[in-house]
Amino acid sequence: MKSLKKLFFLLIIVALVAAGVFYFRDTTPPQLSLTPGSGPISKKTTLLLSLNDNGMGIKNVQVTVIQGTNRMPLLKQDFPPQTEVVDLELDLAALKLQQGGVQIEVSTTDQSVYHLGKGNVSQQLFTLTYDTRAPIISLLSKAHNFTKGGSGLVVFGLNEEVESAGVQFGDYFFPAYPQQSGHYACLFTYPYNVKESDFIPRVMARDLAGNERQLGIYYRAKNKKFRHRKINVSDQFLAQKIPEFEDLAPDVINPIDIFLYVNQTVRQQNRAKLAEFSRKTSPDPLWNGSFLRQPQAASLARFVDYRTYYYKGKEIDKQVHLGQDLASVVQAEIVAGNSGEVVWSEYLGIYGLCVVIDHGLGLQSLYAHMSQLNVQPGDMVSRGQIIGRSGATGMAGGDHLHFGVLVSGIPVQPIEWWDAHWLQDNIDSKLKIN
Ligand SMILES: [Zn+2]
Repeated sequence: MKSLKKLFFLLIIVALVAAGVFYFRDTTPPQLSLTPGSGPISKKTTLLLSLNDNGMGIKNVQVTVIQGTNRMPLLKQDFPPQTEVVDLELDLAALKLQQGGVQIEVSTTDQSVYHLGKGNVSQQLFTLTYDTRAPIISLLSKAHNFTKGGSGLVVFGLNEEVESAGVQFGDYFFPAYPQQSGHYACLFTYPYNVKESDFIPRVMARDLAGNERQLGIYYRAKNKKFRHRKINVSDQFLAQKIPEFEDLAPDVINPIDIFLYVNQTVRQQNRAKLAEFSRKTSPDPLWNGSFLRQPQAASLARFVDYRTYYYKGKEIDKQVHLGQDLASVVQAEIVAGNSGEVVWSEYLGIYGLCVVIDHGLGLQSLYAHMSQLNVQPGDMVSRGQIIGRSGATGMAGGDHLHFGVLVSGIPVQPIEWWDAHWLQDNIDSKLKIN
């Protein structure tokens, strides 16, 4: 009898311990997060709700959207046992929300029996701003005249803070930069290789909540015919250049194949690099008046010469020349076309030893094929300052300067930037709008 009683008590103790372990097994509430959990949102914003419980798992979740005294149930969901992680997308589009503050209340419970079987509860209130209004764009500049390959500027005002603003058409986007006047200035181009029918520039602004507006502008686009040129690739040129190009075309053997690799693949890589530099631009214009043309230099190849390359009378390649070639004496002193900050000063493939200067608003100038570089990235240079000496490094047969101008990484007609009248009428006068 006595031993039976003992066994009975032992069983009770074991049961109590087991119940205790079960009861206290999970005492931590689930973790929850909402992204974005603050700031502005629009009906286009997808809110991501993440739940996590490492103990017994998530049991349920309830989401309520509150605006003023209006409580709108958005979601109520139960989950099977052992649901450790839950990611849910919350869509507010179906709710009739008003412009202004909005609160999102999230409540989630785990599968634990703690708290007398109710489980552990997490509750959190997120405060956001619901914004349905797209930014209002006020166009401030007039008379936007473009010649194919050339540049132009638009100035506009915005009524709210934006995440992104600029000019777009097709796949092109040119960022606008906020100015001290409070307005935005956007430098862009009618690219040399875009058809007139595809050049329909629009100002675009997207606010922090994601609301976007586009505004057409008045503009005139003038076409321009460019030249076609034949280039004979001689064995003498190859013999002279191949030692330099071998490093750029490591797995290519035959001289003409090395030339083609550099003229095609390396050219493309170098252009991508130039486009990359455009992101390192000053939001303020750094130039001061028209650009300086290299003194006493004769003009050779022009901006947008369509080149066809021949080797032993046979066509081997086609490329477009996207700068202005200038030549004077061998190893001539090369001057900065305008004031700005040096963003590149070293070897770059087809451009050889070259310098890139940033002039702000995405405007940059390129000085290629040099024999000597006198500046370093980060240097501030002034208009006319000597930055190095001309040479024939890179894809150059003889000593000359290849001068390029780029707008947000797109090559543009350099002649316009040398022209004080053009600059005043099309760019500088617009930057003075108050
Ligand atoms: Zn050139």
